[in-house]
Amino acid sequence: MHCRKCHQTAAFNMRHHKLALCQDHYLEWFVAQTQKTIERYKMFGRDDKVLVAVSGGKDSLALWDVLLQLGYQADGLYIGQGIDGGIGYSDLSRQKIDIFIEQHTGVKLHVVDVDQVYGQTIPQVADQHRASKPCSACGLIKRHIMNRVALEEGYTCLTTGHNLDDEAAVLFLNTLRWQTQYLARQSPILEATHPGLARKAKPFCRFYERETAAYAIMRGLDYLYAECPYAVGSTTITYKNLLNELEDAQPGAKLHFYLSFLSARDAGFLDVVTEDVVLNSCDNCGQPTTSPGLCAFCRLWQNRSIGKDTHVIPVSVSLVGTPVMPVGEEIY
Ligand code: SF4
Ligand SMILES: [Zn+2]
Ligand SMILES: [Zn+2]
Repeated sequence: MHCRKCHQTAAFNMRHHKLALCQDHYLEWFVAQTQKTIERYKMFGRDDKVLVAVSGGKDSLALWDVLLQLGYQADGLYIGQGIDGGIGYSDLSRQKIDIFIEQHTGVKLHVVDVDQVYGQTIPQVADQHRASKPCSACGLIKRHIMNRVALEEGYTCLTTGHNLDDEAAVLFLNTLRWQTQYLARQSPILEATHPGLARKAKPFCRFYERETAAYAIMRGLDYLYAECPYAVGSTTITYKNLLNELEDAQPGAKLHFYLSFLSARDAGFLDVVTEDVVLNSCDNCGQPTTSPGLCAFCRLWQNRSIGKDTHVIPVSVSLVGTPVMPVGEEIY
């Protein structure tokens, strides 16, 4: 198989695009496609301050790398989750980010260590709430911290490395359950519809996971191959596997599924759902919450006295009705 552009031996073949490219042309194509996605969904421009949430994995490091290549003002945010899982997962992920920074001189990284700031690691919080897995707490805490850092540090857009496989799996899950409010919020770009909400974008939403992996490998990015130990057996992986089977039989099925959904969404298919959502400001931290009073993040920590962060529960807040782990409660 030969590169469509230079006719040398192809390094990568994308059946769904009927496109094979050599390494140099693949890297060029990938960066150009990212720029097209940024423009197509009006994500951000050269004057924007962009924050990239980085985990040490291929997607987030590839995203940071591409944004820097494209000349955007892109800084990183790393959230230390305190996950060990028998492999020192969080330490390894931090190491990969440190290597990235050594290779990309002059870049800026914000680090929020959950244990240091809030007094417990994410698995410890989950244990305290008797959750079998830390994923609900993890998602909630990461969303809150990403939003807080983006707003407090003056970033005009918060970006994540979600790829097409991630987006299609979530779409599949939410469609099977007809979670219309979650569907209404699934988008390559989420506007800041509340003063306590950062604008969010997913510039890799049209790339298959194997495309981001190919980019990271061809670029020589040293990323963490291991998944989070808690991802094993997750629902999302089950849906990803199902969609992979479908993709094998019908190349392009995932992309078609996702893009058709976006078209339906743009045509107003979910407008009625969006109109119903009222966002309140959390009494403690000011971030948006769908229920009045404290947001799910503040309720998660409400039984703990934590002193190192200004965005924690002040003593004066009445702490009644301790909830068990709030699962998927916030939809912003
Ligand atoms: S699998 Fe994902 S959500 Fe669950 S604990 Fe790990 S990083 Fe957090
Ligand atoms: Zn070529
Ligand atoms: Zn709050």
